[in-house]
Amino acid sequence: MRPWVAIDEIVKEPLAKIVGAKPIEVTAMNTLTSNIHSMLISFYQPSETRYKILIEKKAFPSDHYAVSSHLQSRGIDPTDALLTVSPRDGHDVLETEDIIEYIKQHGSSIAVIMLSGVQYYTGQFFEIDKITKAGHEAGCVVGWDLAHAVGNVPLHLHDWDVDFACWCSYKYLNSGAGGIAGLFIHEKYKNDNTRPRLAGWWGNNKETRFEMNQEVFEPSEGASGYQVSNPSIFTTVALWASLQVFEEAGGVEALRKKSLLLTEYLERLVRIEVPQVKILTPKRRGCQLSLEFRDETSMLKVFEGLHKMGIVVDERKPTVIRVAPTPLYNTFKDVYQFVKCLKEVMKEVY
Ligand SMILES: *Cc1c(COP(=O)(O)O)cnc(C)c1O
Repeated sequence: MRPWVAIDEIVKEPLAKIVGAKPIEVTAMNTLTSNIHSMLISFYQPSETRYKILIEKKAFPSDHYAVSSHLQSRGIDPTDALLTVSPRDGHDVLETEDIIEYIKQHGSSIAVIMLSGVQYYTGQFFEIDKITKAGHEAGCVVGWDLAHAVGNVPLHLHDWDVDFACWCSYKYLNSGAGGIAGLFIHEKYKNDNTRPRLAGWWGNNKETRFEMNQEVFEPSEGASGYQVSNPSIFTTVALWASLQVFEEAGGVEALRKKSLLLTEYLERLVRIEVPQVKILTPKRRGCQLSLEFRDETSMLKVFEGLHKMGIVVDERKPTVIRVAPTPLYNTFKDVYQFVKCLKEVMKEVY
């Protein structure tokens, strides 16, 4: 039995598994960017001296807009309060030690640190555990945007002591664009009802939810207490189906073994066969390699050439094509054929 009224309950266990959490720490709700706003309402508690939010300089635009507009909504000027970390001059990716050093230097003025688990543009997989620890040592709340990390790399959000995390379900989780998003809130906050929150009836304890008592909001324990509205049946079921496929495949840890080999194979073939292409992605990564081309025109020509050959990759202007062989359904032969086609297209473009 999977009654509609409790449809969100069925994804809790598998969602918890996929992010390394306890079921009480996760829920499916809303969409990613709106969950970021929800989390900032609860976890961004600025004081006179500690009121800044730290993100990546090249964060996904939605995260940038969310944090910046959130600050404005609280009457705080983002040009002062929004801090960003960027790679060293001439480098493409951030070094963990540089992020930690930045936190040490500026931490006392930072209320919330919110970085991405896997960077959407470069494919870099951040050292979530070390950065979270450094943030806590500086007295900051540490949240993560896991849009490109969930279903892609193994996560241990509970053990890493992450405060909160948000993700969407339509990238590596394959559950369809616009699908229901995910939320993690650490167990240590499960009965913390002192924080403000954007409440709605679906966050109310399900035993008393239908008593329609408008005076007393009695939140459910843990992440479920942050739900706002009744969830979409269709998108929740699509997510559930996808999570079942992950379980059948042995979970993210098993898939990761193949993923590491698949992407390593892609990297080696690209280096040998098309050495003109620069690989931006570092070794600490998920499935994705970001290939950088000479200029925008060449990148677009390569993209079109690949597209005509039936290969689905993703172009990010000005110069990058993202290639993501995913272990769930891509094969080593796919990778081989991709590089063969890339080499052919490159002959015409370069
Ligand atoms: C894909 C992605 C989003 C998209 O946000 P939605 O609210 O799901 O439209 C936001 N942030 C990051 C880092 C992403 O990769």
